[in-house]
Amino acid sequence: MENKSQRWATLRRILTDKKIRRKLDQSPFEEWEELRKLYTEGRDPMAPIIGAIYDEGQFRAEIAWSIPLIIKYTILRGKPLTPQNVKSVDPRKFPPGPRGKNMGKAIVHNAREILDRWGSVENLFTSSTSAFEIYENLLSLEQIGKKKALMLTKDFAIAVEYRKMRTEKWCWLDPFADQWKRKYPKEKLRELEKISIPPDVHCIRVVGRIIGKEKEATEKELKEFGRRVYPEFPAWIDTPLWLIGRNYCHQEKPECGKCYLKRVCNMAKNVS
Ligand code: SF4
Repeated sequence: MENKSQRWATLRRILTDKKIRRKLDQSPFEEWEELRKLYTEGRDPMAPIIGAIYDEGQFRAEIAWSIPLIIKYTILRGKPLTPQNVKSVDPRKFPPGPRGKNMGKAIVHNAREILDRWGSVENLFTSSTSAFEIYENLLSLEQIGKKKALMLTKDFAIAVEYRKMRTEKWCWLDPFADQWKRKYPKEKLRELEKISIPPDVHCIRVVGRIIGKEKEATEKELKEFGRRVYPEFPAWIDTPLWLIGRNYCHQEKPECGKCYLKRVCNMAKNVS
């Protein structure tokens, strides 16, 4: 039987193992050329902000992160998704979010706010060498709460500091990370230890079960879990947790027999 510190070490080993991460990640985005172009060619800097705004509630990630493409080719008629082009769109024209929620107001407001405060989306991401300050910039935008701000900061930090270790071929924020590296060629992105696992519905369920709770983990427990498993950058283990939640650790009938965490999960024996 493993003691507590061995258990944290095993969790770290599993959740950072490149082969496991690769097996888990069958991202539907990777081969989608139009999406790759939208997010990685740097011509549509508002796309990740808009994708994050829609990424909530009942919307699957695939839908949320495709909406910027729809907005570009319907509302903007192919014009780039820049704050300048987005700021003057009638908010009522944007597609509704989950449960019919109006997302247009936040999108237009954020486009104006970004122009007023930073001059461009690029400058928002390259305004600091601290990941935590970039997180706070994002958190100050409308409809970008803690979960979304952490998610964007995490992907940005991975693109800056962990790109060689990640299994995804590309990421929404690669162009901003490239600009950051050009601006600070000799620096490291600081304060990654303050970037916690985003409190996504999958992650709180998986972590709740690993630590043996009947319910989901609280934000505090999620934060503590990340700090224990990967203190130097807790959000690094977000993607495998999220994918385990999506692939195996379903709300009903989790497939513990297939799960990489079954050896270290307190709930595995109770639910299999
Ligand atoms: S072992 Fe089962 S309960 Fe534990 S994380 Fe995996 S699927 Fe969920």
